[in-house]
Amino acid sequence: MNKNDRIELTITDMGVKGEGIGKKEGYTFFVKNAVIGDTVSAVITKMKKGYGYAKTLQVLSPSSDRIDPSCPEASRCGGCQIMELSYPAQLKYKEQKVKNNLERIGGLDMSSFEFLPIIRMGEEVPLHYRNKMQYPFGRTTQGRIVTGFYAGRTHYLIETKNCPVALQGDEKIRQAVCAFAEQNALSVYDEETGTGLLRHLLIRRGYATGQVMVCLVINGDELGTIELERAFIAALKEADPAVHSISLNINKEKTNVILGKTLRCLSGERYIEEKITCGKELLRFQISPLSFFQVNTLQTEQLYGTALSFADLKGDETVWDLYCGTGTISLFLSKSAKKVIGVEVIPAAIEDANENAWLNGIDNAQFLCGKAEELFPEAVLQENLPADVVVLDPPRKGCDAKLLDALRKVGPEKIVYVSCDSATLARDLKILTGGDPSWKDGASYQLKKVQPVDMFPHTVHVESVVLLIKAEN
Ligand code: SAH
Repeated sequence: MNKNDRIELTITDMGVKGEGIGKKEGYTFFVKNAVIGDTVSAVITKMKKGYGYAKTLQVLSPSSDRIDPSCPEASRCGGCQIMELSYPAQLKYKEQKVKNNLERIGGLDMSSFEFLPIIRMGEEVPLHYRNKMQYPFGRTTQGRIVTGFYAGRTHYLIETKNCPVALQGDEKIRQAVCAFAEQNALSVYDEETGTGLLRHLLIRRGYATGQVMVCLVINGDELGTIELERAFIAALKEADPAVHSISLNINKEKTNVILGKTLRCLSGERYIEEKITCGKELLRFQISPLSFFQVNTLQTEQLYGTALSFADLKGDETVWDLYCGTGTISLFLSKSAKKVIGVEVIPAAIEDANENAWLNGIDNAQFLCGKAEELFPEAVLQENLPADVVVLDPPRKGCDAKLLDALRKVGPEKIVYVSCDSATLARDLKILTGGDPSWKDGASYQLKKVQPVDMFPHTVHVESVVLLIKAEN
């Protein structure tokens, strides 16, 4: 078999990026736009030793789990990788992905802990759940300014209108911004040359409050004149009177990172407000453009609820919330702890966390700005601050080795690990559970429970909450 050959394949599995997997003559093929259960005619795009890549040309016999996607761009857009799979099949795929990683990467025995069924969203096909969207700017072949999404693994822009996973209402704002840019002859950023002004349009919405934040990311210090900025504000307010916060983000770096460090508020407040309810507690949160906030508010209530129930606090504990963002988990924890200390690296998020504590009348939560792997060992190992329970919620790359080392040296009774990437979770669990022979010193942990939560329907991503209890040696 060679590149460009046409082959027929039955898809028997799906890979971590949502690609179909099928076998032919002993070769494994990773197949674009195919779902488990399909038989497809495909063209080979690349051959390697023992495996290859192919692209579906025609679905010969569709899988019983294949559905008509809710978005006409689903197969091209890089945002939703598995929208052509029914929701129950998506959930099964995600559970399997977490299990595979725990077994293969974590070396964990599935019978030694409780693996709970994934917490799904309520609807048959859950749509309009994302409270934050970052649309890149581009131009159509006719030269019209548009916003959209990149096609999978490329920087080719697709003008997806009415994205069905975004909370409703972005379209009016997108159109108003593009029309404003056309009328005022603003330029669009070009990634190749690093020239042009408009980079991304960030829209955030409070799911529970309806407040809207618009942040325009530009390759420059200003839009133009003050009059132009005033006209921009007026255009946005006319498009959507719920726009509560308008800002410019300055990003002059030649980078894939969307947001720069500098923010200029043009109108309204620097933040919008969101409300989250967990059990009996309702808390309010201020969110500014630079700080992290979970993108699916409804499922965040499930995620945090699980973390709180796993922490099972009695009221006399000192709890560390490492990677705390705007202090969301910390503030829920504080209601049933003696003290909570949140650690976060982004200064703007720490500002929000302090504001949020004040906003909710909470005085037993403290927030420290810095790296978890540096601040936690300093405070607990050198300054002897207590740490009874530790909650971890790192970004995709997982925990730094220095932090895992400190956790084993400190040995808190309980660790609750919230993870958005089950591969790095499994890697870290291997170390914490004593499964890695090169890590001998310190406490080891017993994995008790794993709870996957579907925060991002139609994508391959899955969140998990894990409970670890210190093993008795
Ligand atoms: N628990 C929070 C945020 C989780 S996202 C919530 O649910 O909202 C992960 C956070 O970790 C981000 O806010 C990111 O800025 C922060 N972060 C990344 N690396 C870090 C590090 N080394 N130390 C501390 N915080 C870090």
